Order: sequence, then C-alpha cells, then structure tokens
Amino acid sequence: MSWHASVVTLFPEMFPGPLGQSLAGRALRDGRWSIDAFDLRSFATDKHRTVDDTPFGGGAGMVMRPDVVDAALAAAIAAGQASDRGAPPGAERESAAPRLRPALYLSPRGRVLDQAMVRDLVAGPGVVLLCGRYEGVDQRVIEARGLTEVSIGDYVLSGGEPAAMVLLDACVRLLPGVMGAAESGEEESFSNGLLEYPHYTRPAEWQGRAVPPVLLSGHHAEVARWRQAEAERITRERRPDLWARHIETAGQGRVPSA
Ligand code: SAM
Repeated sequence: MSWHASVVTLFPEMFPGPLGQSLAGRALRDGRWSIDAFDLRSFATDKHRTVDDTPFGGGAGMVMRPDVVDAALAAAIAAGQASDRGAPPGAERESAAPRLRPALYLSPRGRVLDQAMVRDLVAGPGVVLLCGRYEGVDQRVIEARGLTEVSIGDYVLSGGEPAAMVLLDACVRLLPGVMGAAESGEEESFSNGLLEYPHYTRPAEWQGRAVPPVLLSGHHAEVARWRQAEAERITRERRPDLWARHIETAGQGRVPSA
C-alpha cells in the first residue's frame, strides 16, 4: 500500500502540479505515493453547480457550503479506503496497528505545520486534505467531520491548494526510499530540534571568502563538532523559540556547547 493523498479542491487540475516534478514526481512515478483530486463542484446538486453562499450574519465574501463539502469529503475518504482494500496482502507499511487517514482542513486558524507533525503524518497511511477558498468552509462540516485544521504559517493565502502542496512535499520526501543517501534528511533542519549548519562546496576560495579551514582538515570528529556548534549558534540567534525547546528537551537544563 503506498502512502495516499486525497485532495478535495475547487481546482483539481492544480494537482499534482509541482509535486509531479523532481523528487516528489519521481516518487509518484515509482508508486511510493499516490494522489487523487476531488472536484468540489462535481458534488454540487443544483444546475449552476453552486459550492458557496453568502455568510449568515452578513459580511464580505462567500462561505463554502457544508453539504457540498461533506459529500466531497465522503467520496475522498471512501476512495482512500477502497485503495487500501485493493492493496496486496501483507503490503501494509510497518507501523503497528492500521491507522485511518487523518482528514485535514488547510486553514490559517490551524496548528502551524512543523516537522514533528510531518513525521507523524508520514508514519500513517496518508491524508485527506480539504482546500478552502473564499472566506473558508462552514464551521459545521469542520465539526461534523472532525477535521483537524492545519496552517502553513501566519499569513493568508487565497486558497488551500498551495498549502496542501507544501504539506505534501514535506511528507513525500520523508517516505521510505524517496530520498537517496545523497539527499539524506538525517542532519537537516529540525531533525534534531536545531536549524542546520552552513554548507560549502568548491571553489575553496570565492570572491575572497574562504571555506572554514576545519572543513578542509579531513578530521571527521572536528568537522562534526564544528557543525554541531554552528547549528546551535544559528538556532540560538535566529530561533530563540526552537533554542529554548532544544535546551529543555535535549539538555534537560544543560546548555549545549555555545
Ligand atoms: N477568512 C479566512 C481567515 O481569515 O482565516 C481566510 C480564508 S483564505 C482567503 C481561503 C482559504 O485559503 C482558506 O479556507 C484556507 O483553506 C486557505 N489558506 C489561507 N491561508 C492559509 C494558511 N496560512 N495555511 C493553510 N491554508 C490557508
């Protein structure tokens, strides 16, 4: 069973879009993950295929109707379950008990996506993603379907589709076999609660700027120490929030080497 994403959207033609290229695209073609896009408009029941209406209580903008969104979500969830049943016996990914695909609503009100959330999603069978447009979706369908709201940051996009792509890209690259050894994510930002150390390649001197000598020393332990110290410095300077958490969890009060 490959990791499966079902995306409910008014713009199904946007998918896979950029996810069909490069690392994610290769993984898609290799069958390491799969994606279906469900066209919200095809779940409208009137002849104008209406998906939205004016907000009760007045105000600007339109709200996506709960009945239409619910019907589309039902189809997306059922399609995911059918694809699981079609999997060859014993093909489940190794992760203890079978898990349901979480249904997520991309929303600026949601918990902000982070690497821990990404890792958790990757450990499951996939996701069902609802992309909003206009002012968003009727609150009742969020509650009725138990949707988890996920934001990609404290700013407002015009629609949930770019946010869904960000979430999917972050997940797909962590799926088993997607990143080769050369692209390994073991040391990258957030993997150990720190931002990553700086990288350098040839030429060893460029525009009068030299590569830090330790990186040319061939001394692996010193290189590792320098990288750790740089990762800590950058995290401390740029992200005091991450740094505080790092000290608390990794060091239990012990301040890592400054
Ligand atoms: N009225 C909403 C508010 O103020 O919170 C904003 C709606 S926005 C114009 C339309 C859709 O874009 C949302 O329903 C959501 O799906 C998506 N969206 C916008 N910003 C987002 C963000 N930061 N993260 C995830 N999705 C976002």
